Amino acid sequence: MIRSVVIVGGGTAGWMTATYLKTAFGDRVDVTLVESAQVSRIGVGEATFSTVRHFFDYLGLDEREWLPKCAGSYKLGIRFENWRKPGEHFYHPFERLRGADGFSLAEWWLELGDRSEPFDRSCFITTALCDAERSPRMLDGSLFVSSLDGPLGKSTLDDQRAQFPYAYHFDADAVARFLGDFGRARGVKHVVDEVVDVGLDSRGWISEIRTKEHGAITGGLYVDCTGFRGLLINKAMGEKFQSFEDLLPNNRAVALRVPREDATDMQPYTTATAMTAGWSWTIPLFRRNGNGYVYSDQFITPEEAERELREKVAPGRDDLEANHIRMRIGRNDNSWVNNCVAIGLSSAFVEPLESTGIFFIQHAIEQLVKHFPDGGFDQRMISAYNNRINKAVDGVKEFLVLHYRSADREDTPYWKETKTRPIPEALQEKLALAESHLLDEETIYPHYHGFESYSWNTMNLGLGRIPLTARPALRHLDPTNALAEFAKLKAEADEMVATLPSCYEYLASIND
Ligand SMILES: Cc1cc2nc3c(=O)[nH]c(=O)nc-3n(C[C@H](O)[C@H](O)[C@H](O)COP(=O)(O)OP(=O)(O)OC[C@H]3O[C@@H](n4cnc5c(N)ncnc54)[C@H](O)[C@@H]3O)c2cc1C
Repeated sequence: MIRSVVIVGGGTAGWMTATYLKTAFGDRVDVTLVESAQVSRIGVGEATFSTVRHFFDYLGLDEREWLPKCAGSYKLGIRFENWRKPGEHFYHPFERLRGADGFSLAEWWLELGDRSEPFDRSCFITTALCDAERSPRMLDGSLFVSSLDGPLGKSTLDDQRAQFPYAYHFDADAVARFLGDFGRARGVKHVVDEVVDVGLDSRGWISEIRTKEHGAITGGLYVDCTGFRGLLINKAMGEKFQSFEDLLPNNRAVALRVPREDATDMQPYTTATAMTAGWSWTIPLFRRNGNGYVYSDQFITPEEAERELREKVAPGRDDLEANHIRMRIGRNDNSWVNNCVAIGLSSAFVEPLESTGIFFIQHAIEQLVKHFPDGGFDQRMISAYNNRINKAVDGVKEFLVLHYRSADREDTPYWKETKTRPIPEALQEKLALAESHLLDEETIYPHYHGFESYSWNTMNLGLGRIPLTARPALRHLDPTNALAEFAKLKAEADEMVATLPSCYEYLASIND
């Protein structure tokens, strides 16, 4: 029986893992987290996925309790700017497509949509809330989609049935601190020290980790949360890391924390803006913005990237310190090897275009609990875990490659190259299919990876390169119900915009 887990690393991955395991297993499993005061956390990772609420609910945390302590704000989706051409934008919201007479509104929009009104404004409610900078909650705390309100209890991603309409933006360091306090109060042992060596037995299993000041620390299972270093999984166990750079060449980022001039002007969405050699993010937190530029160093130098980012988001603010980050894009062949499991950046990372880093962590922790080993470490359980993790990461990889291939933009060497770079055959087939009819749950990437068909279609519709056509059947159908659904959606959106408080107003009310 495994009675103790040793986690190395105290970033978002380490503390999410420690608090989740403690909540799941209580006193039956000892959890020790070792983190170095010298090696800093990555310090980014501020936009999340709508499913993250399962994590906080599992811990029994109400968002009114933790969100204000983490400079948190709401995210209703991602606004993609300039990906089709400069000056154009569309939203990828957390909202499934409605339908009429068996066809989604996106398909109806292709057949009879008013082209002066973009598809995302015609087919989703949330886009109107984004434009009007509305909160998804009323001042009394109720959610604008009342059927989805209320805590989830100890549910997991596997139980997710409905599409929740928002995710969060938060200060990553503040979340790690908050979860640290939460974990220590519930019995997580916290050792602040540097791991200088990892002991392996004759079979290649971890026998102990050696620290500078606290000597050897042992456990039944070791979790590597050391970030891009992969101290346990790669350096000690020698597991191979597969790079995705041939498909996703962005390998660097530069980040800036920028105070917002008008704190009340709070956009309830992440913005991803196409740049000369990559894209930049804007993540509005409660009082400041997180900004960054993700790029490929084959096309632009770090100095040029920093200059381009500063000009865009912080002109005249040379006092703000830039954080330059080299990114390791790809995944381990296996993230669980013998008695070592890697979670977080040590396991896998694709660029943060769809904010999937924390989603990968949450998915991995849930799967770890589901596949938690006994002393025998059943290899079939370990393989099942690795299979799930690899499939989820590979699905997101494919979805992100679509972002570049389907983007109409081709005006710089970087954007030109996105059209000639080889792409996975399976994606090529999906894009060819999408020209004939929109993708559905049967024709998107077939394994769980966090995205549904509405996301794949939203990106193809918004990015504009793939010529999409309506199914011929729609020409033979009476459009009355579809037109009524478009009108109903617009009326609901108008009412929500008129009724909901601004994002700032609501968050200020819970920050008091
Ligand atoms: C540019 C960029 C933007 C991102 N944006 C997003 C986003 O918007 N949304 C999202 O979901 N994800 C995002 N991510 C991913 C996200 O940042 C990470 O998934 C998340 O922060 C988890 O990081 P981590 O805990 O794995 O690693 P880190 O934060 O790097 O933590 C590593 C920990 O290991 C410790 N450590 C290292 N070596 C030792 C040692 N020898 N001894 C003891 N301790 C050690 C360090 O002290 C630290 O505590 C982004 C990542 C990058 C690079």
